[in-house]
Amino acid sequence: MCFQLTYVPTVVQTIFRTLFLMRSFLQIASMFPSQTIELRIKEQPVKIHLVSTGAVSVKTKFREATRTGLLAMLDFILDKKFTEWMPIWVLIIEHPEGVFVIDTGENADVNDPGYFKSSGRFANWFDTTQFKFIVERSEEIGPHLDQLNIPIEKVKAVVLTHLHLDHIDGLKYFPSTPIIVNRKEWERPFGDLPKLYPSWFKPTLVDLDERCDVFEHAHYLTATKDLVLIETPGHTYHHCSVLLKADECVVFFAADICYTQNQIIEERYSGTNARHKLAKDTYNKVKRFSKSQKLLFIPSHDAAASARLRDLETLHSG
Ligand SMILES: [Zn+2]
Repeated sequence: MCFQLTYVPTVVQTIFRTLFLMRSFLQIASMFPSQTIELRIKEQPVKIHLVSTGAVSVKTKFREATRTGLLAMLDFILDKKFTEWMPIWVLIIEHPEGVFVIDTGENADVNDPGYFKSSGRFANWFDTTQFKFIVERSEEIGPHLDQLNIPIEKVKAVVLTHLHLDHIDGLKYFPSTPIIVNRKEWERPFGDLPKLYPSWFKPTLVDLDERCDVFEHAHYLTATKDLVLIETPGHTYHHCSVLLKADECVVFFAADICYTQNQIIEERYSGTNARHKLAKDTYNKVKRFSKSQKLLFIPSHDAAASARLRDLETLHSG
């Protein structure tokens, strides 16, 4: 009897903890529901799906800094506060030339406390203390494509904006799909964890040697030149974004240029840029571009992007 009583509190605690985690998972799953809209490109329909592959939380001063460079890094490492949960968006485009998947998001293995150990002591410490993830298996990009009735074989290409884990951790679903990466990002990555790449990962490297409006480094992904990989550096030295030029507006998948659209409007920067000057130049180019185009601006971790996509609410940068 004594033996059983000793274990009652532990069992009760375990049940409560499990129920709490289940509640958290359910809340998060419903916090970032998928969004689908239909636009047109030269009168042809194009479906766009925004899906979240789980949720991430970062230090508040990682998301937004008051200083730059190493001082910004010091500030967020010493910061004790974390942000609210944010989405990890992936954009799926059903284009007349085929299905394109922009970034691949996170996977549920990231919930495992030992996930970063293979990347060495510093990466393990950094990634387990500065970020929090919560990802369900059903939120990975594979199940999202299943739900949309898009077989993996129908995906013409995966396009990666940069090589950070929350953008590449869904690669496991695409062993036979062409994966497009900016050659310069591949040659000079910043903060990537190559030990987490699938062993078969050999991307198709592209040179961004064309121009697209204010962006000097661009690569057109479709014959019709309406889907474009553009270099938007700052977050990494050769970070990219993807533009879809639809008849109604330009969908601008901005990846990690910033965490929220307001940061661009108010010129506030995150604490984690490879080089602040590059980030500043990129902000200026986006603002200039938004004066001549209706931009539907979608940073990877901006919860409000889903409603903007639904309402076709474009960026007004003043
Ligand atoms: Zn990133």
